[in-house]
Amino acid sequence: MSNMKFEEFNISEEILKAINNLGYKKPSDVQAAAIPLALKGNDIIVKSQTGSGKTAVFAIPLCEGADIEETEPQALVLTPTRELALQVSQDITNIGRYKKIRAIAVFGKQPIEMQKKQLKQRVHVIVGTPGRTLDHIDRGNIKLDKVKYLILDEADEMLSMGFIEQVEEVIKSVPKDRVTMLFSATIPESIEAICAKYMVNPVKIEINPEKLTVDKIDQVCYEVEEDKKFSVLKKILYIENPDSCIVFCRTKENVDSITVQMKNRYYSCIKIHGGMLQNDRLDAMERFKKGEFRFLVATDVAARGIDVENITHIINYDLPLEIGNYVHRIGRTGRAGKKGKAITFSTHYENKFLKAIEQYIGMEIPKAEIPSKEESELCKDAFYEKHDTKPVIKKTKESNFSKDIMKLYISAGKKKKIRTVDIVGTICNIKDVDADDIGIINIQDNFSNVDIMNGKGKLVLEALKKSTIKGKTIRVEKANK
Ligand code: AMP
Repeated sequence: MSNMKFEEFNISEEILKAINNLGYKKPSDVQAAAIPLALKGNDIIVKSQTGSGKTAVFAIPLCEGADIEETEPQALVLTPTRELALQVSQDITNIGRYKKIRAIAVFGKQPIEMQKKQLKQRVHVIVGTPGRTLDHIDRGNIKLDKVKYLILDEADEMLSMGFIEQVEEVIKSVPKDRVTMLFSATIPESIEAICAKYMVNPVKIEINPEKLTVDKIDQVCYEVEEDKKFSVLKKILYIENPDSCIVFCRTKENVDSITVQMKNRYYSCIKIHGGMLQNDRLDAMERFKKGEFRFLVATDVAARGIDVENITHIINYDLPLEIGNYVHRIGRTGRAGKKGKAITFSTHYENKFLKAIEQYIGMEIPKAEIPSKEESELCKDAFYEKHDTKPVIKKTKESNFSKDIMKLYISAGKKKKIRTVDIVGTICNIKDVDADDIGIINIQDNFSNVDIMNGKGKLVLEALKKSTIKGKTIRVEKANK
């Protein structure tokens, strides 16, 4: 952590208040180095790991720079995966919450029409995966004339996933007069080329590459025969007794099979892989994040960028196919200054591959003897005891805002011809409430959501229960999410 203070960035009170609510005390190293440059309008290339606080590096300047009255998008963020798009849009919403910044995520495998409707409302920031974003641009659903910030997040991953053409197409559609920020764990030549082509005098910022995550993680490796892996997994789990753990497999078939075997033993687990329906994937991630399950069994779709608090253990049941993914996987633990443990299974035949990983991370992963059955049996009771305790549901970042912001659900939306002005008008008619107390408004087909700020949620809720909007009777409740 740096010795700077967020106040030194000279950013607005609304953003400082949100940062404070999120519990950020001081800027992280990458934030201290990069935010002042981005606020000045410099293009920046940031080489840093996830977990270093890099989302706020772009979220803070673009929320600060956004003109809230502008109806067209002012910032476009590209991310490699759908989960990351959603997470980043939530992070931006949180940082911009008091400024009433609306950020939405667009990604594949979700009905395009639904996203189109969202894009028709006032949106300040769009976060999307390259393919779907380009699709919306081509269909004219996203207007880019007012975009003044372009962010390429996890650029190396976007390129290695084969998105280069779409990324370039999107970059070419964005006005040239903009700030471009690129974030990447590695800067291979292909990324240098993009920077040279599309950025203006970019400043390069590099914060402790690789070491940042690896240092805080206790790593260990077991040589395991393929058909003994599950029995070794059981032993390790009894002994380690993790609070929260991701088990990484190479294929979705393995994820399915390990999940079944774990469930058969009543382990509290949920799975995620690319073969699942989008909504199921998001739901699984959300529930794991909340702490409903102790174990997440996953392919590498979960390895990148995803931020789950307090993961104590990572188990590489299979070695990753791509060397770089080793770092991304183990980087899910040891986040935000906490310690973590990464346990890797490697078969005798994979020695060469393991060596390549060790070379990549610049250290030898300590090897250990597989524990004996007796040793693990001794720990079994404690494992199941922890298992039987009710999970502590982790607070979401949104809940930090609940003391002064209440989200309301209104049972009428576009189909009943409700518009933003109707909601604002009705709420402003309530005694002691004015426009400043109204936050983000989201009007869907059949319902609407509105944030009520400054601790006036209850007051507005009670008043709306007795009123109509546009002469229509409505049902108003505190929204569940
Ligand atoms: P990121 O690298 O953006 O995925 O951030 C990793 C985690 O660190 C997230 O949970 C952030 O909310 C958190 N975080 C970001 N900046 C700070 C900060 N200055 N102080 C404490 N936590 C932070």
